[in-house]
Amino acid sequence: MDIEDSTLKQRKEYYDKSFPVETFYKWITRNKKYSDTRELSFTMSDESYIRYQHFKSNEELKRKLKEKVPIKFDIGAVFDKLLIGVTNTPLLREFIIDIDMDEYNDVRYCCQGTNICKKCWTLLVAAVQVLNYILHEQFGFNHILNVFSGRRGIHIWVCDDIAMEMTDTLRMNIVQYLNLFEAKHTNSQNESYIVIPGRHSLFDDSYQILEPLFNKYLQDEQIFECSERRSRFIRLIPTSKQSQCDEKEDLTWDYVKKILSDDPKALQRIVFTYLYPRLDINVSMKRNHLLKAPFCIHPATGNVCVPIPFNKIIDFDVTRVPTLISVQEERENKTEIIQNNRMEEEDSYNNSDNENDQKPKYSYKEFVQFFDSFVNDLIQ
Ligand SMILES: [Zn+2]
Repeated sequence: MDIEDSTLKQRKEYYDKSFPVETFYKWITRNKKYSDTRELSFTMSDESYIRYQHFKSNEELKRKLKEKVPIKFDIGAVFDKLLIGVTNTPLLREFIIDIDMDEYNDVRYCCQGTNICKKCWTLLVAAVQVLNYILHEQFGFNHILNVFSGRRGIHIWVCDDIAMEMTDTLRMNIVQYLNLFEAKHTNSQNESYIVIPGRHSLFDDSYQILEPLFNKYLQDEQIFECSERRSRFIRLIPTSKQSQCDEKEDLTWDYVKKILSDDPKALQRIVFTYLYPRLDINVSMKRNHLLKAPFCIHPATGNVCVPIPFNKIIDFDVTRVPTLISVQEERENKTEIIQNNRMEEEDSYNNSDNENDQKPKYSYKEFVQFFDSFVNDLIQ
């Protein structure tokens, strides 16, 4: 049996025995309400797509997953009808936001490319915390699911009925409101930065959330220790205060806050340039945009795209995400599993610098339980 065959067999088993098909189906069809018109799109191992799939029951969906064994599948909109060869009009869809680490390449120094570590995870934590807060407090959404994309990103699914019903124009307006990077400002060094046009609750609230993470970011990414990074940081400070920072040998964030204490806009500009969420706006604007489903296995990493409870995101360790293999081992009781409610206590594993040390994976079951309670809360 070659590798592809064995993965195929493992995937089939995953769909058969571990994928939470009942809850998943309940979620995407809102308890069968949209069973005839909710699109799923299968991606096959030859990269071809099978679009406009829809299912009358979770049993039918499971049968199809086992028969086709897609390497991943995406969730589309709820359409007026789902017929091949005619125009289907998307009507309803979760409001979705895609945060991809790619967007942060100019402020991420610890890793490159597809890598991700605990240090740069902070960038995603920052994005999730700000967006969840704004979506909840300013827009009043209550059912927000944060899902690990399987490699180095987070998908945010706003599932409230009122979010489902939003028109494309409304989605675009919300995205434009949230997206401070839209009008890209760059300085003479071609470095992007954010402009704060005035006082606004979006800026003030976001700053309150991001500022406590900023010191950790500065230390993790060695912004003051490395001269290039330090210079870039100083260029974000208003010109009149730059020399004060330049001369300061042991520059600290506390010192910068002190000299800019009368200029909140300047402080916001600095923090936001590094930590404010960078959105892939095209994903959010149109109802018919496809997005990878939670609990898919990422084709390249083998990681499960797990939904993460909001309060666990800050301590989440991406190197311990359940994989196709660990899920199978957990099912067969063959491996040590870390209970997710003990995430914060497991410092002994975090302190190990040896990359070859196999850290135990998080328990897959607990992500499924979390998803169950999220969906039950949504559909009442
Ligand atoms: Zn990193």
